[in-house]
Amino acid sequence: MSESLFAHLRAATRDPERPFLETGTQRYGYGDLDRFSAAIGRRLRALGVEKGDRVAAQVEKSPQAVFLYLACLRIGAVYLPLNTGYTLRELDYFFGDAEPRVIVCDPSRESDIAGLASAGAVLTLDGEGRGSLVDGIADGGDLAPVACAPDDLAALLYTSGTTGRSKGAMLTHRNLLSNAIALREIWGFADADVLLHALPIYHTHGLFVAINTVLLAGARMLFLPRFDPDAVIAALPQATVMMGVPTYYTRLLARDDFTAEAARSMRVFISGSAPLLEETFAAFEARTGHRILERYGMTETGMNTSNPLHGERRPGTVGLPLPGVELRVAGDDGRPLAPGEVGILEVRGPNVFKGYWRMPEKTAQEFRADGFFITGDVGVIGADGYVSIVGRAKDLVISGGLNVYPKEVESLIDRLPGVVESAVIGLPHPDFGEAVAAVVVRHPEAAISEAEIVAAARAELAGFKVPKCVLFVEALPRNSMGKVQKNVLRTDYGKTFQ
Ligand code: AMP
Repeated sequence: MSESLFAHLRAATRDPERPFLETGTQRYGYGDLDRFSAAIGRRLRALGVEKGDRVAAQVEKSPQAVFLYLACLRIGAVYLPLNTGYTLRELDYFFGDAEPRVIVCDPSRESDIAGLASAGAVLTLDGEGRGSLVDGIADGGDLAPVACAPDDLAALLYTSGTTGRSKGAMLTHRNLLSNAIALREIWGFADADVLLHALPIYHTHGLFVAINTVLLAGARMLFLPRFDPDAVIAALPQATVMMGVPTYYTRLLARDDFTAEAARSMRVFISGSAPLLEETFAAFEARTGHRILERYGMTETGMNTSNPLHGERRPGTVGLPLPGVELRVAGDDGRPLAPGEVGILEVRGPNVFKGYWRMPEKTAQEFRADGFFITGDVGVIGADGYVSIVGRAKDLVISGGLNVYPKEVESLIDRLPGVVESAVIGLPHPDFGEAVAAVVVRHPEAAISEAEIVAAARAELAGFKVPKCVLFVEALPRNSMGKVQKNVLRTDYGKTFQ
């Protein structure tokens, strides 16, 4: 693999007339992809972006955002997608840490972002902004992809940190390409496939798992701006594959017009980013005849395991390791455990990231000497090789498929006047899988309310991190070492949303 990911993706389909991406109103072929990514690439170059420079994007989902991603790959820049919900305070941290040469944002945020001391050149994707990247770019010649070594960075994706500080996961061309090749193979993607794309594109799932796999197969996408059950049910008859988080599937099941007939053209429904309940799997099969294919991955590693396309899709498991990926279960001390024993999942392979951006010590802590990455997920591997995830060693809430590290929310709440301390936990929620809940101890005479705490969180944090409820207690339960027993809180308040 001596060429860039872009060169491989582009080589997969040379026919410019082949359809690539459709929205309700626009259609783009592979020829458009080539032209637009070249034109944006040239613009970025003209702005001084060179190989290895970061290009940050906080933009609404659009075809242009996909072309921007591909333009970055094409010129060897490092693409840094940011959740559209991030507040200015959160962005300031990312920009200060990653030092992007260019920031691309929506016109409504342009002046606010430009006002951040950490911001470099700020541009927009559509024609309305002061510095639009795509104005009049339809024409222009070819732009040869910049040669990239397998180990060169292709993307930087921030994951919330257990310490409250987000870490930038450095993903290389090899990481992304090896994963796309493996997924195309095991999920049987071919040029006749049509992916119903309703995921956000600032996350591994919607960006790499979905788009890279489609591109490598020369397939097509129906590109919805967001998950909306009406739009999904309307588009399904034209699709062959859907990728979603479990919440999407429970929301579809809540609709009477989601039927076997609506799913008649579908080849496979794929789920990941959070655990799929066995009840959802069973209800989905009863309704549509489809057994949802569950897979497991993370930002740092791309996809690690998947249930088989042909063969048994076993509910409650995340299937078998991908080709080329090694997975093992280890004790806290790193000692490998036998099949059937529960421990921490560790993974090694071409999919595993290069490390955390500018955090060599943190990176070293999360890898074993023999190169295995410690995922922090608690799992077990059966005698037949199927992997099940039974919990998390890392203190993490996954709400609607998005990760929230409690520490970040707790630090904010603990700073509020009137708060003694807090514990943020995930509680079972019928729609989100888990809902962020804050358990708070107040000073005896303080009157800070749930609404005030929620408003304070909303002012500083992206919406998906904001607690859906605040529960006031006299004291937090602690073990003999003084550690807050979040498991006790999760049991005590487990029925809050049910
Ligand atoms: P992210 O980095 O946002 O992709 O989140 C990765 C984390 O999501 C993993 O470490 C797991 O804790 C969780 N996850 C992803 N897929 C699954 C799955 N199929 N079942 C259970 N947890 C999952």
